[in-house]
Amino acid sequence: MAGATRPDDGACVLDTGALEQLIELLRADGYRVVGPQVTDGAIVLNTIAGASDLPAGVTDDQEPGRYRLRQGTPEALFGYAAPPQGWKRFLFAPDETLWRAVRTEGGFRCEEEPLASGRTAMLGVRPCDLRAVDILDQVFTRSGVVDPRYQARRAATLIIAVECTQAGGTCFCASMGSGPDIVADDANSGADIILTEYTTAGAPLLLARPVSGRGGELLASVQCRQATAADCEAAAEAVKSAARSMGRQMPADVATLVGRSLDHPHWEDVAARCLGCGNCTAVCPTCFCSTVEDSTDIAGTTAERRRRWDSCFTRDFSTLHGGPIRSSGAARYRQWLAHKLAHWWEQFGRSGCVGCGRCITWCPVGIDITAEARALTEREGRTDANH
Ligand code: SF4
Ligand code: SF4
Repeated sequence: MAGATRPDDGACVLDTGALEQLIELLRADGYRVVGPQVTDGAIVLNTIAGASDLPAGVTDDQEPGRYRLRQGTPEALFGYAAPPQGWKRFLFAPDETLWRAVRTEGGFRCEEEPLASGRTAMLGVRPCDLRAVDILDQVFTRSGVVDPRYQARRAATLIIAVECTQAGGTCFCASMGSGPDIVADDANSGADIILTEYTTAGAPLLLARPVSGRGGELLASVQCRQATAADCEAAAEAVKSAARSMGRQMPADVATLVGRSLDHPHWEDVAARCLGCGNCTAVCPTCFCSTVEDSTDIAGTTAERRRRWDSCFTRDFSTLHGGPIRSSGAARYRQWLAHKLAHWWEQFGRSGCVGCGRCITWCPVGIDITAEARALTEREGRTDANH
């Protein structure tokens, strides 16, 4: 169940020592454990060796075009919002070789690039990012054509999600139905274990809900105590307080609003500010566009095909028959926003935005997808009246 409040769900309470044990168990079982870590003034996702690598007592300030770390609740391990990177890079590599062709006596021999072996445990996946992983699962494995590289990595991944107890300055997951709690039934969430951090007598604790069989086995192997009703209530209240303090929201009817605003003059307003840098697509946990490039060595003995993330903000992205079909900044921004918020529904039956706020924080000029959508609403009356 989402946001468990009963102590009879097999929920238990972990302190930092028990989390350390959990990480040790995963590492002993051959998992590479990836989690948040402070590096160069930001919280980044990296291989961690133990709980001491997590950002204890650190929080973040996020605003349009601005990100800073500062001191947060002492000892809290997850007291910050969505970090700059999403988790997609561990499932859908930013840049990778797909195959090589090697010249032989009689022609060429093609060799598929092997995937790195081993399993990955992703620790600290936020509810919005868990929803984003489910969107990527749908795109890469449940939409008719399976991407074997994504599928293999996903099958080798264990997810420990962490509900949000502090809203970021730019996130709006509550209005997208993707946080700050795990909004799907736990069993359908895609997580193996769900954690919620809360504070009792000044000490941060983690309420842990087992979801998958493997998650249950892991929790049964660490020294934790059974959760009481008071633990569950404290954890649920911490998540509710994050929802209450969320400062942004997306208009509820945004899909139809965007659909009827394709000729709106506001797209030109955004284009006048947009640099076309593509940061928003790079940080977005659901953007899945890629391009492939073929290259040959100078001797002509080996060729390789690489796949790398692409962005609909580049002119090359939509170049067909000698020219881009979206030649203006206005057309490119409209394509990105309209795909995320409207056309994704036609394609996949859901929104392509999970409200993580990264595109707002990491846009160098602070373009805010919620404000741009709202501007379509605010101008709609005037536009209709004038046309
Ligand atoms: S569009 Fe922006 S807020 Fe929505 S999922 Fe992508 S990065 Fe997050
Ligand atoms: S990050 Fe901002 S400036 Fe860069 S392409 Fe996206 S909207 Fe434009």
